[in-house]
Amino acid sequence: MAAYDLLIRGATILTASESFAADLGVSNERIAAVGALSGPAKTELDARGLIAAPGGIDAHTHLDMPYGGGATADDFRTGTTAALFGGTTTIIDFATQSRGGSLTAALDQWHAKAAGRALADYAFHMAITDMSAAAGRDMARMVREGVTSFKLYMAYPGVLMSDDAAVLRALQRSNEVGALVGLHCENGAAIAELVRQARAQGHTETRWHALTRPPEAEAEAVRRAAALASMAGAPVYVVHLSSAAGLEEVRRARLRGVPVLAETCPQYLYLDAQEYERPAASAVNFVIAPPLRAKSNQDALWQALAGGEFQAVATDHCSFPRRSRPGQPGKDRGLKDFSRIPGGAPGLETRMPLMWEAVQKGRISPSRFVETTSTGPAKVFGLYPRKGHLGPGADADIVLIDPKHKTTINAKSLHHAVDYTPFEGLSIHGAIREVFLRGKHMVSQGRLLGKPGDGQYLSRGQRQFCL
Ligand SMILES: [Zn+2]
Repeated sequence: MAAYDLLIRGATILTASESFAADLGVSNERIAAVGALSGPAKTELDARGLIAAPGGIDAHTHLDMPYGGGATADDFRTGTTAALFGGTTTIIDFATQSRGGSLTAALDQWHAKAAGRALADYAFHMAITDMSAAAGRDMARMVREGVTSFKLYMAYPGVLMSDDAAVLRALQRSNEVGALVGLHCENGAAIAELVRQARAQGHTETRWHALTRPPEAEAEAVRRAAALASMAGAPVYVVHLSSAAGLEEVRRARLRGVPVLAETCPQYLYLDAQEYERPAASAVNFVIAPPLRAKSNQDALWQALAGGEFQAVATDHCSFPRRSRPGQPGKDRGLKDFSRIPGGAPGLETRMPLMWEAVQKGRISPSRFVETTSTGPAKVFGLYPRKGHLGPGADADIVLIDPKHKTTINAKSLHHAVDYTPFEGLSIHGAIREVFLRGKHMVSQGRLLGKPGDGQYLSRGQRQFCL
C-alpha cells in the first residue's frame, strides 16, 4: 500500500486535454499517482467540489527591475507572494542586461535578487539590450545555466531597443545555442517620432500615450519580426500581443510557415483605451506598453485564445506605486507629461482568477485555461513535464479552485506592493483556495503558509513546442 505525503481526494482534475474526477497522491514533492487511490497518507485533504489545476506559470514578470533611479515596486518576495495567492507557482522573470554590461553580470544580479526571497519557483529569461559579439558568445553560457530564452526590444530607442541587424543576429544565434527569442513588437522609431510631435504640439494628457503607440506600430513590428525569423530560420515568440492588427500578422506569418508563437495578457482581454479618458491621477495607472487598445480589438483576441492561437497568457507584471517615494518612481511622475509615466502595471495575483472567469463566462474551455496559464508556457520555455502537468512524476504544484465562490477584485485584498490594481471592481466567479508548491502547502483559504526561500531556481531545458 502506497504511503503518500499528501492525498487530495475527489477533486475535478483539469489538464490541457481533459477533465476527470480523481485523487492526487503526492510523495517527495512530486505527483506520485492520479486515480482512485487508497492511503495511508500523512495529510489528507477533501477536495470534493473543487477544481485541481496545475500550478500557474507566468512567463512574463519584471520584479525588482531597475527603473528611473529606483526599481519596480515588487521584489521577489512580494511579487511571488502575490503570485501564490493568485495560483501561480512558477514565474519566469526578465533578467535584464544593462547597457554596456554583460549577460553573465545580469544573471548574477538576478540570482542575488531572488535567492532566499522567492516563495514561488522562478526561472529567468535574459533581456538583451546590447547584442554585441560578447553577448552572442554569452548566449551559449546562459543556455548552459538554464536560461534558454532571450528577449529583445523593438521599442524604446536609445534605452532598450535593438535594431533589425541585432534582432537578426540574436535569432540566428538562438538557433545555434538551442534557445528561443522573444520580441517586444512595437516600431520604436515611429513611436518616438509620434511622441516628439505630440509633445511639440502641447499634447501632454495621458490619452496621448495610446495615440502615439497605435496598433499599426505593433502590427508592423510583428510583420518585421516574422520576416527576420524567417531569414534566420528560427522560431520567434511575440510577447504581450495586444491588437487585432498584430494578431493578423501572426496569422499571416504562420500561414507562410514561419513559426511565430504568441502570448497575450489579461489587461488586453479585459480593459480598453477608455481608461485613458479618466482624470490624469487615475488614467496614469493604466499606462503600459503596448497600450490598452480600442475595445473592438478584444473579440479577436478572445477568439484567438479560444481557438488555441496563443501559447500563453502572461501578465507583464511591472508595478509602480501611484505616488513616487524617495528611490521609488511612481505613476505620478507623468501626471503632466504622458511620456514620463513609468510604464507597467501589476497583475500577478489576478491572472489565474481572470482566466478562470473566462471559463465561467464560456469564453474559453477549461482545457484552454490550463493550456494558456500553465501547460503552454511550460512547453514553450522548457519546463514541461516537470511543470505545467498534473501527472505522475511532475512537481506537485497544485492549485485548488473553488468554482462557486463569487468575489470582486479589490486592491486591498491583494498582496503585491502597490496600492492599486487595474482590474479594481471586476466581479469574478471562482477563488484560488489552496496552493501547493512541490507538495508544500503554500496558501490555504487566504492564509500564507509558505515563506521566503521556499521558491527554487529552475534551470530550464529547450522548448518542446511545434506549431
Ligand atoms: Zn515586459
